[in-house]
Amino acid sequence: MAQRRVLVIDDSTETQQLLAELVLEPSGYRPIAALDGEEGLRLALQEQPDLIILDMQLPKMDGLEVLRALRQRNVDIPVIFLTIQDSAELVVEAFRLGVRDYVIKPFSLQEMQEAIRRALAAARLREERDQLMQQLLEANQQLQRQLQELNAIYAIGRSVTSLLDLNRVLNRVVEAAVYLASAEEGMLLLLDSESGELYLRAAKDVDAKVARNLRVPVDDSTAGRAIRMDRPVFLTGERAKVATGYLVKALLYVPLRVPERGVIGVLGVANRESERPFSERDIHLLSALADYAAIAIENARLFEAVEVERAKLEAILREAQEAIIVVDEENTILLCNTAARAALGLGEADLSHCSVDEVIPHPILREMFVQVRETGRAKHGEVSLEDGRTFNAQLTPIEGVGRVLVMQDITHLKELDRIKSEFVSTVSHDLRTPLTTILGYVELLPRVGPVNELQREFISRVQESMQTITDLISDLLDIGRIEAGLDLEMSPCDLREVIEKAIREFQPLAEEKKQDLRWQPPDALPLVLGNPRRLRQVVDNLIDNAIKYTHEGGWIAVEATEEDGHVVVRVADNGIGIPLAQQPYIFDRFYRVESDETADIRGTGLGLAIVKSVIEKHNGRVWVESRPGVGSVFTFVLPAFED
Ligand code: ADP
Repeated sequence: MAQRRVLVIDDSTETQQLLAELVLEPSGYRPIAALDGEEGLRLALQEQPDLIILDMQLPKMDGLEVLRALRQRNVDIPVIFLTIQDSAELVVEAFRLGVRDYVIKPFSLQEMQEAIRRALAAARLREERDQLMQQLLEANQQLQRQLQELNAIYAIGRSVTSLLDLNRVLNRVVEAAVYLASAEEGMLLLLDSESGELYLRAAKDVDAKVARNLRVPVDDSTAGRAIRMDRPVFLTGERAKVATGYLVKALLYVPLRVPERGVIGVLGVANRESERPFSERDIHLLSALADYAAIAIENARLFEAVEVERAKLEAILREAQEAIIVVDEENTILLCNTAARAALGLGEADLSHCSVDEVIPHPILREMFVQVRETGRAKHGEVSLEDGRTFNAQLTPIEGVGRVLVMQDITHLKELDRIKSEFVSTVSHDLRTPLTTILGYVELLPRVGPVNELQREFISRVQESMQTITDLISDLLDIGRIEAGLDLEMSPCDLREVIEKAIREFQPLAEEKKQDLRWQPPDALPLVLGNPRRLRQVVDNLIDNAIKYTHEGGWIAVEATEEDGHVVVRVADNGIGIPLAQQPYIFDRFYRVESDETADIRGTGLGLAIVKSVIEKHNGRVWVESRPGVGSVFTFVLPAFED
């Protein structure tokens, strides 16, 4: 540590000598002597000693005047005041003027040594404290700055995720870049991949004229270099001029990077006046901001793409011929297209946020919404409106959305169907009479004269074909009547009886084909509400098919059970089976599986259509499980009858 210097201002050379030789020098301090006040003041200002020992009475300027003069000049050197007994007022005044300690003359050497040590220790402490304060102040300032930066970046981050207005986000990013880097201006340039140029997308304090025409080639610009090299570029001094085509003294560009799309532009700051170069810290700050800008740009791009798709979809839904209503999980309307409004007479009112219960006046539709909400399963039904129109309605749950109702106006199809059925039944009726006549005469042929073997065979073929036509006509008449809801008087009936009668009737046919027709009667079976004649027709058709489509020597097993309040009937066989691809169609009218195995089997293709119609009229379901070469199981389910 440098030698400490003590200025002694005292007109007594003895005191000077005493202090210098016996107190200061032995303790390692360097004495500086002043014999009057003026000299003392001058040396104090000039030498800036570590301590002043100041006598009260001095020539030219007394001790208090020296103190005042020092105070006026803001000199903060610790002072020990030398005074004499009984001068309390003077001492008080001296303390007011900043004196730290005083010693009364005559003093002992030890007393003086103590006072000097105390004063210097206090001064050192003060110095250290000042230094510490200074350091604290600086640390605090730095913390404040970092806090501001963090706040700014946080605010930008929040606005990036909350604002969908890209212009505002990008302008904020550029403003923050200028502010945080203490720059004079800032800009965000985006890459126009078609022209290979960068154009100005957002700017802060950039000269308006420059901003208007700012387009720079990627190949030949500093901003372009940040893109080409995919890292920050910064220039200072002379070289910076070339960079943007106008005079700047420092500039910094950082690339804007989007995952999977690479670099899409640059964020830059520049100084035109100040020589202050940009630092590593500025690079970090700008890079963080550039990331936010890139996220905002990407979000906006994705949002726009989604928006375009959404608008397209909305237009398609709006203009679709089908009536469409989309509801959320709570059955609150999200969308109701023009066709739906027209179909249900809902007018032009805004229906969003209304419940289907309030809006849709048709109980059948409302019930469908309730059921699908409860079961979570799609529902399909025909809805007849009071004005005579009929709709085919399909209500389907959509995960994450709610449910969608699609309705097609099938009024004209229903009408066509009715006309067709009427036509078929009229024609069938009218055909029966001539057919009966033909059959009668064909049957008579052998009786009216001898027929040879070939003629007999021809007659039998004619009879077989006539039988097919007769079957077809009766099936057609049947299906027409069933669909029209005729002959369907319902009463509680025992399916066990129905099945047993059918088994008895088909047994000879099965035996003829050496087939085992099995029936295991259940211990008990609930009744069903149905039409015994039609249900018998169902069982007959299924057993008939099973016998027809099973080879000689095969088996057919019929069973009936009760399951969950339903009667379940299964007709199984180990016959030829049905290919999976054909299974959905076999209940359609006139559909027959065409294969080598079925070629010689007679049929109209109406048997299963009749089965389906009858079962559905009884509120039941029918389906098939089958494997070619293994066999088939036809199952129908009817609700059990409850009194
Ligand atoms: P069809 O009069 O032709 O028997 P159906 O409507 O009764 O008409 O049956 C439609 C088609 O389903 C049949 O042509 C046949 O190909 C197939 N099919 C019906 N039952 C069976 C079965 N038990 N085994 C194999 N195929 C069957």
